[in-house]
Amino acid sequence: MRILATVLLAALAASLLGFGPEPTPTPQQEGSFSETRPAIRMISSSHDIQFAERIVFCMEAEADSSIEEVTFYYRLGGKNVLVFGYPDFERGQHVAAEFEVDTGVAGGFLPSGIDIEYHYVIVDAAGRRLETLPQRLEYLNPRFGWQRLSLENFVMLWHDRPRAEAAAVAEKVNARLANVKALLGLGPTKRMKAVILNNPIEAQRSFPRVSQTASDEHLFGGFAFSEYDLFVLMGLDEDGIVHEMTHLLLDEAMDSRLAKVPAWLNEGLATYFERIAQRRDREVDDAVRDGDLLPLRAMGTVPGKPDDVVLFYAQSRDLVRYLIDERGAEGMTAVIRGLSAGTKLEQAVQDAYGVSLGDLEDDWRVYIGAEPLPIADGSTSPSVLGNEPDEPIPQDVADGSAQPPARNSRGFGGAGVVAAVVVLAAIASAATFALRHTRRPR
Ligand SMILES: [Zn+2]
Repeated sequence: MRILATVLLAALAASLLGFGPEPTPTPQQEGSFSETRPAIRMISSSHDIQFAERIVFCMEAEADSSIEEVTFYYRLGGKNVLVFGYPDFERGQHVAAEFEVDTGVAGGFLPSGIDIEYHYVIVDAAGRRLETLPQRLEYLNPRFGWQRLSLENFVMLWHDRPRAEAAAVAEKVNARLANVKALLGLGPTKRMKAVILNNPIEAQRSFPRVSQTASDEHLFGGFAFSEYDLFVLMGLDEDGIVHEMTHLLLDEAMDSRLAKVPAWLNEGLATYFERIAQRRDREVDDAVRDGDLLPLRAMGTVPGKPDDVVLFYAQSRDLVRYLIDERGAEGMTAVIRGLSAGTKLEQAVQDAYGVSLGDLEDDWRVYIGAEPLPIADGSTSPSVLGNEPDEPIPQDVADGSAQPPARNSRGFGGAGVVAAVVVLAAIASAATFALRHTRRPR
């Protein structure tokens, strides 16, 4: 499951945060050799991951005159946005300062596996300034002994599983991604990051809170954070990894900032590359029989109600499969190229297939044994079709909508995996990410 969302970066840390441009480079004093002692000296710097709650950064410094100002800077996931804040400390020639970054659902959620780079700028009473060398950390639950394996398309992190088992799955996925990249028209890409969790309890602590309903009724299966090129997945599930990687790669294929991929296409592609699909196929058959098919124009975002989402995913997959397998993969690649350049979907489809999106939808409906949609007269509204979409999400917080998908997953047996989306408030650098969650295992 994937949804566009923006992350409230401001919530990531204490209220004293701000955003700023890259600080002007200053001579690095720490770590450089000097015959005379530097006027400001970093004595120690460390961080403590209190997983799923916060990261505490501690530093000690001394100077020949009183230290008047300490600023803490950090950036997330290699992004350009630099966040800064002012730790509390007592001025003097020897200072100890502490700064906290919230990482849990209550403060500002950070996904497992995210890389954080940080440094300090220290200023003394004489106006001298020390900018410390950048330090890096990878935000992971320190209770576990994480292992990692780097492949062409992604690096996979896991714990408490035999390396051979993890490697076998990762290598199979890596091989399968060649088809994904070919369809998306992608050459070599940056390496994404996959963080594999082992059980629902661990997942609950590692995933953002989507909604009360989702928390009460579901456990998340995975979240993909396109902005950070990483995803977090519960279970070493081959199809699940392919699904999330497809989201990340599709995002990678979109060059234009104007590029917009409708949810049915995004989820349709991600599910197209899964191998276990019998359940979805049944859903479409049932909808054809019952006259319940959703009109494509109602599928730009994923419905909010889990029950609606099952059909949404099944239809998305089926339509994308029709477009690729029956109308030619070149057409889909051309559509993606068009979207990537910022072309609107209808035009990209017309350019690629030589027919309108509406005609393609009707062709698909006839192909699966359904009636073409009536000419647009309002009679095909979702409510008429018996699939009223969920309440719209207020525009100020939503770019997409909440959602759960269904997919068959080896790891969850027959239990449908349901995706959900969280939409957080927007700030300068919007993060797109995708979420999936699963019904509580029986
Ligand atoms: Zn998805």
